[in-house]
Amino acid sequence: MAKFLYDVLIIGGGPAGSAAARLLASWGHSVQLLTKPLKGRRFLGESLPPSCQKLFDLLGISEALGQAGFLASAGNTIWWGDHRTRTAHFADATKGWQVERRDFDRLLLKLAAQAGSQLQTEALVRRVELPTTDTSPLQPEGTVHFLTKSGPQSSHARFILDCSGRSGIIARRGFRNYENSRTTVGLTAVWEQPNGWPLESQTHTLVESYGDGWAWSVPVSKSRRYVTFMVDPQATKLDQRHAIMSCYNTELAKTTALRSLLNGALRVAEPWGCDASLYSAHKYGVPGVLLVGDAASFIDPLSSYGVKKALASAWLAAVVTHTSLTDSSLSTAALGIFNKREEQMHDALSRQSAQFFADAAKEHLHPFWTGRSAPDGVLPTHGTPNMPDDAEYLKRDPTVLAAFETIKRSREIHLSPGPCLQIKRYPAITTRRIVMEDRLSVPNWPPSEQGLRFLRDVDLVRLVELAPKHRQVPDLYETYNRHSPPVSLPDFLGALSVLLAKGVLECR
Ligand SMILES: Cc1cc2nc3c(=O)[nH]c(=O)nc-3n(C[C@H](O)[C@H](O)[C@H](O)COP(=O)(O)OP(=O)(O)OC[C@H]3O[C@@H](n4cnc5c(N)ncnc54)[C@H](O)[C@@H]3O)c2cc1C
Repeated sequence: MAKFLYDVLIIGGGPAGSAAARLLASWGHSVQLLTKPLKGRRFLGESLPPSCQKLFDLLGISEALGQAGFLASAGNTIWWGDHRTRTAHFADATKGWQVERRDFDRLLLKLAAQAGSQLQTEALVRRVELPTTDTSPLQPEGTVHFLTKSGPQSSHARFILDCSGRSGIIARRGFRNYENSRTTVGLTAVWEQPNGWPLESQTHTLVESYGDGWAWSVPVSKSRRYVTFMVDPQATKLDQRHAIMSCYNTELAKTTALRSLLNGALRVAEPWGCDASLYSAHKYGVPGVLLVGDAASFIDPLSSYGVKKALASAWLAAVVTHTSLTDSSLSTAALGIFNKREEQMHDALSRQSAQFFADAAKEHLHPFWTGRSAPDGVLPTHGTPNMPDDAEYLKRDPTVLAAFETIKRSREIHLSPGPCLQIKRYPAITTRRIVMEDRLSVPNWPPSEQGLRFLRDVDLVRLVELAPKHRQVPDLYETYNRHSPPVSLPDFLGALSVLLAKGVLECR
């Protein structure tokens, strides 16, 4: 029998796998998603911030999510470091989602299938042969071996996405960096309070720190909430029999707000534990293979950004895969972007969590807190100057201020290309593919190797093109806004000043 070669095989049916499968199938690729059965697994209640909305729109799943009836969340109530209650509503009255992950994952799988992905939801992946050109030089091919109820099977594809979360079916084969100093276990139980909870903001996620751990609670309905404690496994007796229940009770007794809240509530499930230790990867993709979502890296759940990060990673993986499958000349550039973006995303979120831990460490002088206050292997940003393409930084740059004065004073401007004007082609991300675009390449500015196209939404390449054709700044501004998405006058003048200050344009 002739074997079928999929364009893409996806290992894992969590948010990352389903999102990547949906996008790639809807963009016309043959996709098979292999995942373990949902049945028999423990799932958490999780909070998703309002900023997930953009990703849901991009995936075309907002309407289905709206109809699914997940609890809408209005913000967070926090006792962090001390016993003061801090209530933070989401900005502009936007809403997040409180989801039972079993239901959320099931819905996303259904939406991936609706887009045309072929799902194998009872498949345990056991071994992967990474794509090589051994079998067919023009069409690299990889193989995934998996076990189903009807026995062992194999599938073949040109691209393989590891979306298997912490299991990291491919990630564990030498890609993963473990942050050994920060092992954490989450101990979770589900609680019911049939008459509702004595809280001002019923839909809020609750977070409380204490001496050597922290707790949080996610409501998933009016009466039901998940309550989890994050602890250092080395400082508990979790290795003993019946340890989870007693450890859970011990941690609960250390809290103030949550203990009081749960007093009189009914615990409806035995507590269970899950690993929440941090890791990243030294590489997030190689030709034909990408590590996506939690398979790539795991950030502290404190951020509530895990699912958002998984969806963003899935979208980028789909863009990179689609580009590589349709235009092999861009494969290397696309892979480079994926590696860079995944690293940046992990580092930025790790820094953010470390700051929260440092805040709590001021009150709780314990290694649990001090040890988590600096992100492992991530360069600190404290004390380093802002990036020179940061508009706020540029506003204070004396050469930019001088250029701004020149523009303001001149009755007429005669702008021409300056000595530092150089435009080069760089890879850029669009919603569906990586493309090559023109960008300014100015010596020593900005310091990345990526060049620069936009500053505060002003298209610098377009501005450089139009500038020599006008003598009056208002005319130039009007023409610019006619040719490009309109920008504000202060942003426009700022960008023009920067181009003059950096020698990209000069004024006679
Ligand atoms: C204690 C805790 C609390 C958290 N709270 C939040 C929160 O409130 N908000 C938030 O946004 N994030 C939270 N997170 C993070 C969030 O759960 C993850 O970031 C998110 O699930 C990542 O999605 P994913 O698709 O990459 O991986 P996963 O959701 O882990 O999906 C991986 C999939 O791969 C499948 N799989 C694994 N191995 C195999 C195999 N061999 N064969 C076949 N299939 C396989 C699994 O069954 C699973 O379906 C929390 C995490 C923890 C540990």
